[in-house]
Amino acid sequence: RPLLIGVTGGIGSGKTTVCRIFEAFGIPVYYADDRAKWLVDHDAILKADITRLLGPEAYGPTGYYDRSWVAAQVFGKPDLLLQLNALIHPRVYADTALWASDFSEKPYVIKEAALLRAAGEDGNNLDKLIVVQSPLELRIQRVHKRDPHRSEKEIKNIISRQISDEERIEMADYVIYNNETQLLIPQVIRLHEIFSRAQE
Ligand code: ATP
Repeated sequence: RPLLIGVTGGIGSGKTTVCRIFEAFGIPVYYADDRAKWLVDHDAILKADITRLLGPEAYGPTGYYDRSWVAAQVFGKPDLLLQLNALIHPRVYADTALWASDFSEKPYVIKEAALLRAAGEDGNNLDKLIVVQSPLELRIQRVHKRDPHRSEKEIKNIISRQISDEERIEMADYVIYNNETQLLIPQVIRLHEIFSRAQE
């Protein structure tokens, strides 16, 4: 199989932008947060497990996952949230592996998510982890510009609930700096060369 490289970073850090550059070099990207949302609606094993954990109300009358009902159930119950995540993560890992197996001709593929653990941790199948880092003020500005309905306060709240940059850097094998002085494309090219060579 190709190497599996994780790309993570806080909200507005630029992880999707970085992944678009990798895609321009022909590297497939698995957008795990979107894919996880699809899996809770469509993966039969996961649906059965979630129904067993939370009850049939987790799926509304149309059979679709009721995100706001589930959010209300797990609110203030960190143990239940952990149990829910423990159901979802292995299915996403399995789905990622299946997806990656389609790209045996590629030297590496990428998995993007807002939260990824260090390579190899918790049974994730990442070979390396890239963390995208941006200064806090710039992230707030960029997200506010992209999503004008989100206030600065709301964005700061999201950031305060995410893990810190220090914790992310601790887990990283590589860091991409997305600030106003360092260009993204040369940093991506450098990593593209490293990962392409690693499989030769
Ligand atoms: P989220 O967690 O919200 O999905 P993200 O980490 O994926 O965020 P992006 O969506 O890549 O971040 O970037 C946030 C916004 O900032 C986007 O509108 C993007 O176009 C813009 N942006 C990111 N990096 C740069 C840059 N280097 N120069 C200019 N704009 C940028």
